[in-house]
Amino acid sequence: MTTVVVATGNPGKLAELKDYLEELDWTLALKPKEIEVEETGTTFLENARLKASEVAIATNSWAIADDSGLSVVALGGAPGVYSSRYGDSDASRINRVLRELGDETDRRAEFVCAIALSKPDGTIVIETEGCCPGSILTAGQGAGGFGYDPIFFVTSRGKTFAQMSNTEKERFSHRGIAFDQLMPALRQLKFEEYESA
Ligand code: IMP
Repeated sequence: MTTVVVATGNPGKLAELKDYLEELDWTLALKPKEIEVEETGTTFLENARLKASEVAIATNSWAIADDSGLSVVALGGAPGVYSSRYGDSDASRINRVLRELGDETDRRAEFVCAIALSKPDGTIVIETEGCCPGSILTAGQGAGGFGYDPIFFVTSRGKTFAQMSNTEKERFSHRGIAFDQLMPALRQLKFEEYESA
């Protein structure tokens, strides 16, 4: 079985990624803590590629990375690729988005998730991006999930990410949508073909 390093240090994301990848015949390994990748990209896809490649090269293994975040229309797409750096805790990040939006009536937003899979030499072989449209509430609702989940309302489900069960969020979230797009290619992937090339 091939080992694939999951290039994230975020425990919430790690748990979700493991659930999606569970059906594959892969041995998943955690990214060693000392490998820190600077997210210098200006798009989610650039950062996902960067994380997957750098972790793959550093560990000499296959690596899968996701880069995700919240993009709010009335904030010009912010926090965007800075979602994890928008404050020093989930509560402060949520408060900053709510403060910056104030009483703006256009509360449209989307969660975006880019995923990239890298060979041990750092070459990206598969990548995709999934988006989940929604809107920002004026106050949080629900206690599940992580990050901005309590303020992100998914209109098509009539609830926030934080009000969804894990299964429901995994199915309808940006990450779920990205994995739906990715799974057919991952199921067919033959590691040996790349390794002998
Ligand atoms: P990164 O992909 O590690 O750069 O982090 C993305 C950041 O976006 C996270 O730290 C969260 O703040 C936020 N984020 C990404 N996905 C989700 C999600 O599913 N729910 C809530 N917040 C998320």
